[in-house]
Order: sequence, then structure tokens, then C-alpha cells
Amino acid sequence: MVERSVVVLGAGMSGLVTAYEFARRGVPVRVIERLSVPGGLARTQRFDDYYIDAGPHLFHTSSPEIVAYWQNLFPGMFRTPALYGKNYVDGQFFDYPLSEETLRQFPAELYKCIMAEMSAKDPAKLSAARNYRDYMESLAGPTLQKIFYEDYPEKLWGIPTSELSANWAPQRIDIRKEKKPFHADQWSGVAQNGCGTAMEILAQKIIAHGGRIDYNTEVLGLELEGEVISRVRTNAGVVDLGRNDIVVSTLPITVNSRFLNVPCNLSFRSVKLVAIATTGADPFPKDADWLYFKDRGVIFHRAGLQTRFSDIGIPKGWSILCCEIAYTAGDAISTMDEAQLSERVIADLERLGFIRRTEIVKVHHMDLGPLYPSYRVGFETELQRVRGELEKNGNFYFTGTLADFSYADFQILCAKAIDLVDMIQDPGSAFNRVQRVSRRVRKFNDVVQIGKNLVGRQYPPYIIGEIGLNHNGSVALAKQLIDVCVESGCHAAKFQTFSTERISAKVLDARYNEDILDLEENLHQLFNRLIFSWEELKDIFAYGRSRNIDVFSTPFDIDSVEMLDRLDVPAYKIASMDVVNLPLIRAVAMKMKPMFMSTGMSTLGDIEEAVNTVLEAGNPNLILLHCVSSYPCSAAEANLRMIPRLAETFQLVSGFSDHFPGTFLVPPAVALGARVIEKHLTLDRSMKGPDHIFSLEPTALKAMVEEAEATFTALGTGIKAISASEYRTVQRLRRTVFARVDIPKGTTITRDMLTVKSPGIGILPKYIDLIVGREARSDIGADHPVTWDTI
Ligand SMILES: Cc1cc2nc3c(=O)[nH]c(=O)nc-3n(C[C@H](O)[C@H](O)[C@H](O)COP(=O)(O)OP(=O)(O)OC[C@H]3O[C@@H](n4cnc5c(N)ncnc54)[C@H](O)[C@@H]3O)c2cc1C
Repeated sequence: MVERSVVVLGAGMSGLVTAYEFARRGVPVRVIERLSVPGGLARTQRFDDYYIDAGPHLFHTSSPEIVAYWQNLFPGMFRTPALYGKNYVDGQFFDYPLSEETLRQFPAELYKCIMAEMSAKDPAKLSAARNYRDYMESLAGPTLQKIFYEDYPEKLWGIPTSELSANWAPQRIDIRKEKKPFHADQWSGVAQNGCGTAMEILAQKIIAHGGRIDYNTEVLGLELEGEVISRVRTNAGVVDLGRNDIVVSTLPITVNSRFLNVPCNLSFRSVKLVAIATTGADPFPKDADWLYFKDRGVIFHRAGLQTRFSDIGIPKGWSILCCEIAYTAGDAISTMDEAQLSERVIADLERLGFIRRTEIVKVHHMDLGPLYPSYRVGFETELQRVRGELEKNGNFYFTGTLADFSYADFQILCAKAIDLVDMIQDPGSAFNRVQRVSRRVRKFNDVVQIGKNLVGRQYPPYIIGEIGLNHNGSVALAKQLIDVCVESGCHAAKFQTFSTERISAKVLDARYNEDILDLEENLHQLFNRLIFSWEELKDIFAYGRSRNIDVFSTPFDIDSVEMLDRLDVPAYKIASMDVVNLPLIRAVAMKMKPMFMSTGMSTLGDIEEAVNTVLEAGNPNLILLHCVSSYPCSAAEANLRMIPRLAETFQLVSGFSDHFPGTFLVPPAVALGARVIEKHLTLDRSMKGPDHIFSLEPTALKAMVEEAEATFTALGTGIKAISASEYRTVQRLRRTVFARVDIPKGTTITRDMLTVKSPGIGILPKYIDLIVGREARSDIGADHPVTWDTI
């Protein structure tokens, strides 16, 4: 193991866990913190003889691993009450997260309208939503969106919801059936003596393991030698780094970028806290431990009661209301002094009836600084770029809410910090704790929009013509193959994009089909020969677009992901061989475009890790393709039952990437639920190249598309009814009651005078017993139908 020491910038939750993890493994660690106490946003500040939490109150997680980690670090510290948040709207309190139960407070007509809008939710619109406003309108309907999901987010984030990325919403918005505690279905604990006590304990543990924490020390800059940080400049002097030493920063990404001369167009929303101590009774409803205020006339967006969480030193009979106020540097709030801010908060609280001015005993202020990343539509691209630039510095790492530009709770911050230390100390370790702990997206979309096409259970299969390598490196051939896709009725034409690094040049015996095709090159040489230049790719993709077909590609490396991003592809594909390549999957998922992933050569466990990587990246548009990576694949090995299995296991749309020679497996695949079919195509199967041999030629491809569509149509609705074309047959063939003999008028009809025959123009046989015993009202000739007007 490399001998190194570590400098951690910032002593918030992230910095402290990182430092503790290094220290307990015997790595010398030094933490630099500008404040006089540990905890950062999670500090607990002393005022006179009592304490107020700056920010968080709740530790919560669904991961038993993280619960055990906290209980081991902070034994006996937690109590686990059920806690509730509420929205305050015009004098009424509504559950937060919203519940259908709470909406019953609205007048009956309004409630009915909201419920009708919610049940008319259109999954296609949901998956196509690019901004928060559209997403919420599709998820909750326009009425709820207007009431709960417009003013509040705009107040908090300082951005119109039409400019706020939709990717934020699936992580946080939950509409429940009934009222439940805030963190229902999770372990959730409150630190009895304030959240900052947990941070103090961590700080002490770091020191007990030989670590050092420099408080009141502000980092002013980082000095580079080449792409390695050699010095950390602070207001208390310079920290020199040795050759193997590393820096882990938890400072905001904007500050890290400034220190390392990386241009950065990201920004944060900051928060000020005003705590009002009164001698009045606890003013909130019993089942509301904190409240959200959407009213733009109220200066704060959230207010919590410190006394409901921890009340160390707080005089008996006092209530302390902590009001959070969001601001952006330079706006009107940012320039208010403490007296002005106190006055606004007090006036608002008084007007809302939560306090009486005469009962106020103390007012305290804390400026928490940057907190909420400005998740503007498209921020992911800028974030990726900045992260990429920062990561170039060999001994520089970063983690935390502000450093990662990703608002996160303690569970995620802990998991990320532990993973980071695991990864630095043991570069071979899989750093997947975060994926186990968090689900930034809870669920994949049932309908995925690609270009103009919708893919989902209720839509006909989306057919991808896999051109792959069958263009043989020729732009003209690539365009011809696009034409074939269009003419065969495919929805997409797909390529493969890679750099020279796709396969090791050393594996000289890695030959592929050479016995059949007489290819004398190894895979490395083959792939190099088939690479398109940037200009060629641009030309091919532009041609595809002009032919009105979705054109995308499978990137095999991160450079290729970036190249495809510049081509503004409508989707990405992950190849079976990359199911285990989580860094590539993460990079693709972060592009927030729909993704297809083939699942050959993998177990359900491998697929689960890949799927979790996509969820963790916040991308809700993943489609898994069942695939057997044999070229060609036999019917015996096709295992088509995996198509519904993938859909059920991972709750998403599944499809089939077919390597069987011919079209035989496509109809059963569609019947089993495949809503994407991917099939290789070629102009001529006898062409030279690895994939031509098992590809379809144009005529067969067209037939396959028709068969797939016909199979889908043939599946029908599952609703049993007489079809339109059957009505004629009903008349011709259905059985009704006929006279077996002549029945003269006035005859009492007996059973042996009747028989049952086609066509269906008489009385149904089930009524035969009603006919028996009646008198014929007119003559009924033998072999004539018995009708109600003749008996
Ligand atoms: C009001 C509020 C309520 C919240 N509620 C919850 C909750 O209930 N549960 C939950 O899990 N999460 C909650 N959160 C989120 C959680 O508190 C944060 O995500 C978490 O504390 C961030 O920790 P961090 O270590 O990543 O960042 P920070 O805490 O910001 O740590 C960064 C540290 O770097 C220091 N620093 C900055 N610049 C410099 C410099 N130049 N030199 C030296 N030091 C510097 C800062 O002082 C700080 O200590 C809440 C946050 C707020 C504000």
C-alpha cells in the first residue's frame, strides 16, 4: 500500500467521515476548516446556554449497513420519533409529501378535478418532460402542479420551474395514498443533543486515531505542479504536500474550480437562518414538526421547531422557530442586514398567527451560505465537463453536497465518503455503496420517448436496425444501410462508436470468425479499420436525420460518449460486454437521454449493478434488451422467457437483441412482451466482415418488421368481445331453435317438435324450455326458425 497523508478541506459531514475513514485505517490526515466548530451545514451552534441546529435534524436511511455504521459511531445518541412535515397554504395544513387523504380538505369539486387529472396521467408525457414544470404537470395534473409545485420550488431554487431540470423531480416527489411520517419505510433518527453533537463525536474520533483538525483556518488556494497539487494555501500558512499525498475537498465545486483555474458556469442558492425564541406555546399543529410556505409574500420557505428535535439548555416554556430563507448572491435578501431580516420574519410569523411580538425573547442569525445547486435544465452537461477537468488533477478528489453539486442527505454523503476512501486505498474495489443506499430515481418510466417514437407495453415494437460494423468503414455503405432501415420500416438505425482502445492490441490470437470468413486480422486491427472520423460520423448522422429516422450508436468508451453527445443523438446503447463497465454506464446515464442496454454474458446480479448505476445517476429512461452474446445464437439457447423476467425484475420496458440467424424468434419475443427488437442488417450476407453472416438482408428485414408488427397487433386487447368481423359469422353459424316438423297454428308445442340448427336467426337454444308448452300463433313450417312472434 502507498504511504501517503491526506489533507481534507472542510469539516462538514462529508469531510469528517472521509477523515475518520482514513484515520482509522492508519493514514495520517489533517482537516482544514474555516469555522470554529465541526459540522459545516450540520453544525449545532451555541447561543448563550442553549443550542440551535444550523440545518439538518434527521438521520434517515433505508440501508441497514448505514444504520449500523451510525449506531456504531454514535451509540445511544438517537431517538426515533415519527416526524411530519406539512405544507401551509392559505391557513390550511396539507401533508408533505402530499397524500390523497390530505387533498380531501379541498372543496369536493376541486378534489374530484385533482383526482381525475391524476388518474389521467400520461406516462409518455412524463417521460418526455425535460423541465420540472412539465414533469410535475404530467405527474400530478395541472391543478396540483399550480397549487403545490410552482411557487414553492421557485421560491426555494430561485429559478422558474420551466427552467429547473426535470431530473430533480423524480428524486424527491412522492404523492402518497395516505398520511405517513416524513421518512416512512426508512429508519429515521434524531440526534438527542442536536445534530452537531454527532459531528463533535466524529471530530474527537479523528483526533483519537491520530488525525488533526485545524479550525478557524480558511483555505485560500491550491497550487499545482503540472497536474498535481503541491501546496494548500490557507490564512494560517501553507501546507506542503509530499509526492504521494492527496487532497480531498468538500468545498463547493465553484470554489474548487476557482482554485484550480477551471471555468465553471454552475451556481448555488444560499440560505440564511433566522431563529426566533418566544415564550409563547408551541405554535405548530401536533402532527407538523416543520412547515413549508409557498406564499411568495412570506420571506421564508420553511420553518421548523428546534424544540421538537432537541432542546438542550433551552429555558422551559420557550419555543424556538427556525426560519430558512433562500437567496442568491446580489439579490434583495442577500443585501438585507440582520435587523431588516428579523423584522420581515417577525412580521410574517405574526401575520400568520404563529407568534406574538410581545413574547419574543431572542433572535439569532446564521448565514449558512451556498446549499442548493442550481439545477437548471441542461446543467448535467456543464457538471460533467467541470468534473472531468477537476478529475484531471492526479492527487485531487472531491465529495459532498457542494463539492459534487448534488444536494444529498447524510446517508448518501456517508456512503460516498466511505466509497471514496475504499477506492483510494484499494483502487480495485468496486465503489458501489452509494448505489446500494440511494435511488436517485425510484423507478424507470413505463413509456420512453425516443425522437418522435414512444416505446412501452402498449405501443408496437420499436425496431432498431443494427448496422454495427456492417458498413465496412464506408460512408456510402453506411448511408445505404440507413436507407434499408427506412425502407424496411425500422424506427432506428444504430451504429457502434469506439476509439482505438476498444480492444487490446496485445491479444493477437483474438480472432473472430476467421475460419469462416478468412479474415486475417485480429480484433484490434479490425476495429481500427472500421473507425469513422468525426466529419464522417457527422455526415452519416445528418443523413439519417434527413431520412427521418432515429440514428444513434453504442459508445464503447467515454470519448465516444462525448462525441455522440456532440452529435445530439436521441438515445444511447450499452453493449452486453459493457454491462460490467459501470463508469461507462454512469457517463452515458448522466447524459439523461434514453438508454438501451443489452444483457448478454451477464447474471441478474451484474444487471442489477448496471441498472442501479443508471438509477443512481437519476436517469429514468432505461430499456433492457435480453440478448445471448453468441454469434449466431441458437434457438436452444435463446431463453426468451428472460424478456418478461427482465421487465418484472427491474420494472421497466424490455426488448430483445436478436442474434439468431433469421426471423424465427421475433414473433414469440414480441408475444412475450418485447417492445424493442434489435436486429443486424446487411446488404449482402456474403460480404466480408464479422457480422454480415448472421445479419438480415433487406427483404428479410422488411418481412421481420411486418411480422413483429403483426404479432403485436395479434396480441389484441385481452378483452373478450365479439369482434366486428365475427358478426357476419354469428348470423351464419350460430345455433338457434328451428321447427323439426310442421307446426300448425294453435298447436301446443312439445320438445320433440323442436331442434337446434344454424343460421343464427331464431331464438337462442337456452330459451328452448320457454317455447315448450306454448301455442303456435301462426303456422311454422318444418326446418323454419321459431321466433318470438310465432309463439
Ligand atoms: C436547513 C437544512 C436542513 C437539512 N435537513 C437535512 C436532514 O434533515 N437530513 C439530512 O440528511 N440532510 C439534511 N440537510 C442536508 C445536509 O445538512 C447537508 O447535505 C450536509 O450537511 C452537507 O455536508 P457536507 O460535508 O457535504 O458540506 P458542508 O457541511 O457544507 O461542509 C463543507 C465544510 O467546508 C467548510 N469550508 C467552506 N469553505 C472553506 C474554505 N475556503 N476553507 C476552509 N473550510 C471551508 C465549511 O465551513 C463546511 O464546514 C439539510 C440542510 C440544511 C441546510
